[in-house]
Amino acid sequence: MFEADDELVVVDQHSAHERVLYEQTMAALTGTGGAGQRLLLPLTLDLSPEELEAVEAYAELLSRVGFEVEPFGGRSVVLHAVPNPHPRFDARRCFEELVTDLARGRLGGLANRLERFAATYGCRAAIKAGQRLDPEEMRALIRRLFACELPPHDVHGRPAVVRLPRHELERRFGRS
Ligand SMILES: [Zn+2]
Repeated sequence: MFEADDELVVVDQHSAHERVLYEQTMAALTGTGGAGQRLLLPLTLDLSPEELEAVEAYAELLSRVGFEVEPFGGRSVVLHAVPNPHPRFDARRCFEELVTDLARGRLGGLANRLERFAATYGCRAAIKAGQRLDPEEMRALIRRLFACELPPHDVHGRPAVVRLPRHELERRFGRS
């Protein structure tokens, strides 16, 4: 929450970060891709057959956002590298949620495959609601949000920002 010229601005941190990551991911998918961080201890995950299929179908896009995935026999895969979109990022959880979403066709309303992937990744990789950010992280997020092409909405079409103009607050406090 912060004060602007003549208004109070409230930001939904998940929606805001999701928007930032969506645009970053679209750039990574259509450009050179983003590098993942190599793991000293690779993560092994067991997937359902549908999820395994999704990993194969989206292998190229997963590697472009930084997930280096290798089949490990049976239904297991090994993650050798993962993206690092923020300090509290939980790579295993993000990968599991992302792959489940991809297998189920979540956000299927987006016709374009790249957009659908970027929206799903953005949602799952973003800061969660309720995670505590320090003031510098909040400021950085807000700067990145307002540098986006479409700042006010997240990938689900919900607003990322609510503005309360001074005159509205004054009216509600019976001062106008
Ligand atoms: Zn979301």
